Amino acid sequence: MPDRLGPPLGAPLFERAAIIGVGLIGSSLARVVRRKGLAREIAVYDASANVRERLRALAIADEVADSPAAAVAGADLVILCAPVGAMGEIARQIGPHLKAGAIVSDVGSVKSSIIAAVAPHLPASVHFIPAHPVAGTEQSGPDAGFASLFLNRWTILTPPEGADPKAVALLTAFWKNTGANVETMAPAHHDLVLAITSHVPHLIAYNIVGTAADLEEVTQSEVIKYSAGGFRDFTRIAASDPVMWRDIFLNNKDAVLEMLGRFSEDLTALQRMIRREDGEGLEGLFTRTRAIRRSIIDQGQETAAPDFGRRPKDD
Ligand code: NAP
Repeated sequence: MPDRLGPPLGAPLFERAAIIGVGLIGSSLARVVRRKGLAREIAVYDASANVRERLRALAIADEVADSPAAAVAGADLVILCAPVGAMGEIARQIGPHLKAGAIVSDVGSVKSSIIAAVAPHLPASVHFIPAHPVAGTEQSGPDAGFASLFLNRWTILTPPEGADPKAVALLTAFWKNTGANVETMAPAHHDLVLAITSHVPHLIAYNIVGTAADLEEVTQSEVIKYSAGGFRDFTRIAASDPVMWRDIFLNNKDAVLEMLGRFSEDLTALQRMIRREDGEGLEGLFTRTRAIRRSIIDQGQETAAPDFGRRPKDD
């Protein structure tokens, strides 16, 4: 089978890439950096001793450092891949050890609050270019990662005003070589877009699964037994990492609350349509939403396979 990621680069883009926080996203990055030869050397650091031990066994990096400072020493690319709430503290730890001219980036799911937490700790001699790969699964940890995670997904860069165009171009080339499409946005706009496309949908999933779990009239075994009616798809999202999602809601509060306000208004309108038996209104909305799913499939961001491609293997 041809390698969907394509052949390795002739010459690496970076001499030494350091990845701090090596779970699903960090380990996927380490794997693709090695597979595509994007850096001559990869150093990784994770706060968890168990993860560091596992990383040594997995051998997806050249060096598993015992401190963030040791990982970033001499690195010309540093990517923070820890939970959103940990980014500021990591920046404080690595700030004095960064190489002049290095690109410092991250993969956090929110941007404005990470920029506010990280930027004050970085020396003026480095280029801070935040990023967010809009790719993931509901799994976590270094074993969950895979090299093609970013393939055909979007990575959003949010460079600060006045960022060095050469550094932005280099980071863009890096992400494109992971297989991702790259877009540039202002951080506040990123946070608003992601609030409606990712954060609010997760909140709805957490809420509906929580409501079902608390119901008294319908038993839990009935909820599980008849889950194919739609509930099951929400449980996949609601199984996402609790720490990661706690941090996202705490750090994208304003945009999430704004989008949630809009959502509540539209839900009230739907309630009214049901109460008034407005079949035309309901059908009109459902026709519009079906068209949105079609465009997501047309743009290669989802499979058109029936049942989301989750048919039994022997089907
Ligand atoms: P993950 O699998 O839980 O990995 C995060 C790793 O970072 C864990 O091994 C964690 O160790 C470690 N860590 C925590 N605090 C640290 C610190 N201070 N220094 C170094 N390592 C630390 O999470 P993930 O899914 O890869 O997410 C990582 C980042 O990517 C988050 O910022 C998230 O917003 C972003 N992101 C996630 C997705 C997704 O779908 N998962 C998609 C796009 C972006 P412990 O387990 O010991 O805490």
